[in-house]
Amino acid sequence: MKAIRRLHVRTVLPDALSPLHDLALNLRWSWHPPTLDLFESIDAQKWAECRREPLAMLSALTPDELDRLAGDPAFVQRVREAGEGLTRYLSEPRWYQQEAQAGGEAGGFGQAYAYFSPEFGITAALPQYSGGLGILAGDHLKSASDLGVPIVGIGLFYKSGYFRQRLNAEGWQQESYPVLDPDDQPLALLREEDGTPAVISLAMPGEGHLDAHVWRAQVGRVPLLLLDSDVESNDASKRDLTDRLYGGGGDQRLQQEMLLGIGGVRALRLWSRLTGAPEPDVYHMNEGHAGFQGVERISELVSGADLSFEEALRAVRASTVFTTHTPVPAGIDRFGVNQISQHFGGAAELPGVALDKLLELGAETYEGGDSGVFNMAVMGLRLGQRANGVSVLHGEVSRGMFKGLWPGFDEAEVPIGSITNGVHAGTWVDRKVFDLAAEFMGPEALTDGTAFEKVSQVPVDRIWATKREMREQLVAETRTRLRKSMRTRGSTSAELGWIDEVLDPDILTIGFARRVPTYKRLTLMLRDPERLAKILLDPDRPVQLVIAGKAHPADDTGKRLIQEMVRFTDDHKLRHRIVFLPNYDIAMAQRLYPGCDVWLNNPLRPFEACGTSGMKAALNGALNLSILDGWWDEWFDGENGWAIPTADGVDDDRRDELEASALYDLLENSVVPTFYDTDEAGLPTRWLEMIQHTLGTLGPKVMADRMVRDYTRALYLPAARAGWAVRENNYARARDLAGAVERIRAAWPSVRVEHVEAEGVSDSPQIGETVRVHAYLALGGLSPEDVSVQVAFGRASETDELTEVETSTLEPVESYDNGRHRFDGELELTRTGSLGWTVRALPAHPQLAADAELGLVANA
Ligand SMILES: *Cc1c(COP(=O)(O)O)cnc(C)c1O
Repeated sequence: MKAIRRLHVRTVLPDALSPLHDLALNLRWSWHPPTLDLFESIDAQKWAECRREPLAMLSALTPDELDRLAGDPAFVQRVREAGEGLTRYLSEPRWYQQEAQAGGEAGGFGQAYAYFSPEFGITAALPQYSGGLGILAGDHLKSASDLGVPIVGIGLFYKSGYFRQRLNAEGWQQESYPVLDPDDQPLALLREEDGTPAVISLAMPGEGHLDAHVWRAQVGRVPLLLLDSDVESNDASKRDLTDRLYGGGGDQRLQQEMLLGIGGVRALRLWSRLTGAPEPDVYHMNEGHAGFQGVERISELVSGADLSFEEALRAVRASTVFTTHTPVPAGIDRFGVNQISQHFGGAAELPGVALDKLLELGAETYEGGDSGVFNMAVMGLRLGQRANGVSVLHGEVSRGMFKGLWPGFDEAEVPIGSITNGVHAGTWVDRKVFDLAAEFMGPEALTDGTAFEKVSQVPVDRIWATKREMREQLVAETRTRLRKSMRTRGSTSAELGWIDEVLDPDILTIGFARRVPTYKRLTLMLRDPERLAKILLDPDRPVQLVIAGKAHPADDTGKRLIQEMVRFTDDHKLRHRIVFLPNYDIAMAQRLYPGCDVWLNNPLRPFEACGTSGMKAALNGALNLSILDGWWDEWFDGENGWAIPTADGVDDDRRDELEASALYDLLENSVVPTFYDTDEAGLPTRWLEMIQHTLGTLGPKVMADRMVRDYTRALYLPAARAGWAVRENNYARARDLAGAVERIRAAWPSVRVEHVEAEGVSDSPQIGETVRVHAYLALGGLSPEDVSVQVAFGRASETDELTEVETSTLEPVESYDNGRHRFDGELELTRTGSLGWTVRALPAHPQLAADAELGLVANA
């Protein structure tokens, strides 16, 4: 029989147990082991059957069981305490409130920060992520919650999530999309006061519309709003729009991004209206996918505050932060101009946002750009006054990639900074490590960055014993997963006896797991299969490898790489030492990192923007063996692991050859010998030193708490303040800035540094001397207040190119006829060597945040 209707009947909890409901609905359980223990203590077997998901567990309890629990005073007491613990966590002042209270930073603190992301990886139970970008977003929310930073997350609800990966007999990736029933998830539907589900709506091409419901998940203190297009008022294709993460290309992807950006802002307004939550002070786009949020906000301001497009753009930019996540061109969303025209032109035009204005925002107006393309990252940069990459190296690479948007400026001045990613310790550090740290470093050990210094107090034999236990966990987990996978691939149980011999908890264990785009080079290690086999099978000092990764469903190249790897691991002589585990996800990752001694990463530099898996491994006492890319380029210090040298300037094949060979060399000559070099007590002394050093020095840096503090200080607070400033007096400063920009742009072609005089330069200048500079400029009708005139001083190359530039400002002193002005100032010779200086003029306005912001400069 098939049901004709579905209904969801929820458990009614006895009063004494009612806190269980809040504990199950708030996703804090995903990083709060005591809450999980509480649910497990009800019935360990049922708990396992419910895949360790609190809400499923509650649904699985019968009224009799609930009555029994409600009659158990000790349990009721634990429930009450756990409930109180959660209430305290949600309401007590945390870092952000303490900072605000201390008032250390002038200018006030924002009340809400909107964080837009196409994916969120919070728990394996909610598969709304495909890889690093989503995991990072999840960690961002969790750390924001722990720190009390008032973020609200905005995303889409993908009923079929990202796919589940299996392998067929030939080792070819198979995808399946289990459907999530949102009623079974820790989600609540936003409803109007009369109880009907609230709906947001967008115009679509050809008189069409797209409606969506909004689900709220609660991630500790942080609400996460997820838009869901599976609404009856939509036609069938629109109902499926949010079905899958990165499911379709073309229009589906564009419409998903319209829903995320435009719909996301509407969902925020709805959220404020229904709950009284404050409107966000800042809007943070986690990658370009959510860029349309800025366009919607421009439209709101044009309609609601009577601003012109340019004025609204200036206002929106002030309070927008854009984070770029990839230097891989294929990772950046680009739509056809005609596709955008179809969705944003004619009847579908957003009020106040003329199509040509919109197209300008995403236009690739630089050398090599494609005029038929609308680029979401470029739009992100145009909509966000503050922008960053996700590691120091990635910041640098991004400045190079996008410098064409700021012509006339050196790469170093391109206004894209960097904040290096981090990982949420509560989610990623194994409990065994937490317990050990708590025992010797204090209860706050891994949450308070300062306690890492105390890692030397942890006895090394205990570290080693803990690592072995975690290897054991991984061995057990691997065998279970592998057995299941081999059954799916067609083996019978009788053929699977060998799986009991797979992996060994006393062998050096190397992990490699990540998505499988080409640049990550899954199969680099297979370059010389015999050499790898010899390393794995060494009779005295063997090595074992655990590998995992999903290829995008449309990526056959990636699937071929997986197949090549799986075939290698199928070899009977090797299969006990090298394993490919299907369906890499958060649950697997949480076992994998702790069980590894070495975390391997061999991307093609510089395509790994940051990478975070190695950070998670490091926090669990693993050492990194990696190409100097992303975060590792920044924090490898010679003692915390190994750097695989990059072979620049050769063709790709040769490069793979050289880098693979360097990888084998490192394994054979350094990694393996160090691991197996033990003292009388059987402890690998040097290895343990390296672990302690890693935890002590990398520990505090790789924490997502550090990252969220950095975002708050460097981007959120300044953006909030800039946003308030432009909003005052009915957006007076946004209007003023837009007017100034127009004036300055028009006049700029006639702005010139005409003549420069220097006084006080001796024949052989010495450090500490001061040069007095007089500069005569033609300002083409601009007033001296419209420009900032600078002396730029730095190292001079043989061709007079300046690097390591410092600037100081010249002040206007005299005006002459014909719009000419003199500016004076001083240049202090603070450095020695071959130096040079020049004078330049830049646009000036109090609402500009960076010298290069408008891309205008007049050099002497
Ligand atoms: C951490 C993590 C990633 C991202 O790791 P990278 O090092 O950025 O590749 C991807 N998937 C899962 C399941 C993770 O936990």
